[in-house]
Amino acid sequence: MKEDWLQKRAIAQVEEAKRKLGDELLILAHHYQRDEVVRWADFRGDSLELSRRAAATHARYIVFCGVRFMAETAAILAQPAQQVFTPRPDAGCFLADQARIEQVQSAWKALTRGIDASRGLVPITYVNSDAEIKAFVGQHGGAMCTSANAGKVLAWALRKYPRVLFLPDQHLGHNAAYQEGIVDKEILFWDPRFPPSDIGPFHRARLILWRGACNVHVRFLPTDVQHVREKYPEVKVIVHPECREDVVSLADEMGSTSYIIRAIRESPPGSVWAVGTEEHLVARLRAENPEKKILSLKDPPPYCIGMSLTRATDLAHVLTSLVKGRETGVVKVPEKVAAPAHVALNRMLEITG
Ligand code: SF4
Repeated sequence: MKEDWLQKRAIAQVEEAKRKLGDELLILAHHYQRDEVVRWADFRGDSLELSRRAAATHARYIVFCGVRFMAETAAILAQPAQQVFTPRPDAGCFLADQARIEQVQSAWKALTRGIDASRGLVPITYVNSDAEIKAFVGQHGGAMCTSANAGKVLAWALRKYPRVLFLPDQHLGHNAAYQEGIVDKEILFWDPRFPPSDIGPFHRARLILWRGACNVHVRFLPTDVQHVREKYPEVKVIVHPECREDVVSLADEMGSTSYIIRAIRESPPGSVWAVGTEEHLVARLRAENPEKKILSLKDPPPYCIGMSLTRATDLAHVLTSLVKGRETGVVKVPEKVAAPAHVALNRMLEITG
């Protein structure tokens, strides 16, 4: 009952704030957000796509409904007159949290100590990482990547440098490596919790994968693919590249969130899909494609805790504060971090065209 009342009040507050702030306000929502938040979004999409689109508008206030690294990315790309806000400053990404800057600095020191240029190392980071990690990568000649272009960025790095450190998602890195023809014997894993005592083999590896993973996507297992195929022989299995390699190898298709949405949208009526990604998106795909059967690859389906934190009441709180001239949940990235992080992003854009 109280929940109903809070929701109704939040709806009224968001409506009023949107009316009062007009074009000065832009609400962004990542695909994994709850419907009660997504319904208010001016743009819905992936983190980088949203940040770039927001920076191209004249909005003064950008409210990013997602997790921390996404709002940071929007702040890095924002124009000087724009300010970025998050309704839940405590909403973090499990994957991004597995690569802390101190851990990366210490790994880098160990991996480059006493090494001549012929065994030079370059870092690549997935967009799902802290701003400080992106900055580190920018400062060390590396590039950022997304789930859609990880293979292309990795291929660039491998062409240019003898060794590559891929942060922070081992599975995205591994799947991209397979795409580029890198075999397992050329790959080693760096576990920041248990750094190796013998660095020698890491000086010879082509690709060093940081042992991080998304705790949503690693929950999909090969047995899930087998079960769904037994139950629905006509099913097409489509998974995100943050899934484990043994799941990807059994799937029919692998692709970024945008790729998954497009593949399902463009499939003929009557298609049956089992989708290996976050449940809020899968449920929305089901609702938006009623003439197709859309299942989660796993039962029960995994969802992202960080992404689920933002409620309509949180959005209403940020917006009501803005209307009153108060700034709540401001996201700022210091210039000394934002500038090199931007370098990593620009390098990615140069590579991918
Ligand atoms: S789904 Fe995974 S990668 Fe995406 S925000 Fe959640 S923990 Fe991070």
